[in-house]
Amino acid sequence: MKNAIALLTIALMAGCASEEPPASSTAIHYQGMNVIVGDGTTVIENAGMIVDGGKIVALGPSADVEAPAGASHVDWTGRTIMPLLHSLHVHVGYLVGDGMAAENYSRESILADLDRHAHYGVGAVLVLGSDVGDIAFAIREDQRQGHVGGAKLYTVGRGLTSVGGWPTIIAAIAAAPQQVETEEQAREAVRALAGQKADAVKVWVDDAGGRVPKIAPELYEAAIDEANQHGLKVYAHVYYLDDAKRLVEAGVSFLAHSIRDQEIDDELIAMMRERGVGYIPTLVAHEASIAYADQSDWIGEPAMRETVDAGLIETLTSEAFVENARANPGLAATREQYAIALVNVKKLHDGGVTIGLGTDSGTTNRFPGYFEQREIELLVDAGLTPNQAIAAATRNSAEALGLDGTLHVGAPAGFVLLRSDPLSDVRNTRDIEAVYFDGEKIDRAGGGASD
Ligand SMILES: [Zn+2]
Repeated sequence: MKNAIALLTIALMAGCASEEPPASSTAIHYQGMNVIVGDGTTVIENAGMIVDGGKIVALGPSADVEAPAGASHVDWTGRTIMPLLHSLHVHVGYLVGDGMAAENYSRESILADLDRHAHYGVGAVLVLGSDVGDIAFAIREDQRQGHVGGAKLYTVGRGLTSVGGWPTIIAAIAAAPQQVETEEQAREAVRALAGQKADAVKVWVDDAGGRVPKIAPELYEAAIDEANQHGLKVYAHVYYLDDAKRLVEAGVSFLAHSIRDQEIDDELIAMMRERGVGYIPTLVAHEASIAYADQSDWIGEPAMRETVDAGLIETLTSEAFVENARANPGLAATREQYAIALVNVKKLHDGGVTIGLGTDSGTTNRFPGYFEQREIELLVDAGLTPNQAIAAATRNSAEALGLDGTLHVGAPAGFVLLRSDPLSDVRNTRDIEAVYFDGEKIDRAGGGASD
């Protein structure tokens, strides 16, 4: 008997049926769909895929994939699957209804945001600096024990900034940053995060156009050095090219916004490529205020309405709201900065720098999960191909979290089932029929909006 099981196991591992099949099998054989692997190039047309035990155990052209005896069969002809998205710059728990507020932050509101992410096919998110207290860490642990669902939460805990620095003037998250004044304080803050088992470290390097003091280079250099000694990656909020260079020099792992004061130069591209520093452009965060002023055509589209209440969409399209958005004195400057952001991400991508997905979603009028989807479209606007933009959102961003973000034999069976092909129109990444985590179809009702 033992030998029979061993032989059967070998037969299954080899991807072919046993001669003496079991009466039934837990394997599921999906066939007929196109598979976007997530590596930026490979598409398997008319594929066959076998999922068993939460993993992909066979994947290839349909004709080459033989189902084990007893497997169930699912015909997905005409559909496309792609890997789960992973977002490296989000905030969770603060945006409830139409308002972002400190008092909204709770276990319940965080879980609701994680459900919204999962609804749009986001498998994991990295919360960049706004998680106060222990709630996020407790949720992370509960997810690992299998007690709660939603996108898998990764957190940097509280980010670092200067005394009175960004984003302490944003009321809702004013209490989140750790305001450091000395190199020793910066190191101590990082040691405490390491003790909390934070997944990385966040540092805000910005003066918000001269409105707040920017953290001194010596302080973030100390923080980055300490973080790297503890094996922690550092994600930096950045705006200026000069700061970006100094951060890269200091050993940062990711720039977590677009450089927008000027077009980047070859020096930065070379530095980032050589040191393996990634770039998370968060185009959708920079574009949001322009989009509301211009009433871009996505506002109120069906995919958005799946998780955003009808009443809020009515507000966002109301005359008063639009007039107010158009009267924003910073709007013209934002347009210029956004145009620079589009140029910079394309230059960095073409220069061989790894591009990641991030959005700043979970802040005012930046909607969790939906904005992750929209970011993919904006990467294509910037000049990436749909397949490259999908690779940024899947493989590249998963790798940053130490996860496997492509579809291949041995990988977790996490994927998004699409009704239409995103390679012909990238907006089809949000034409979602179902989302699978570890081989299981998730309940997408959790992200539901009220009419
Ligand atoms: Zn942010």
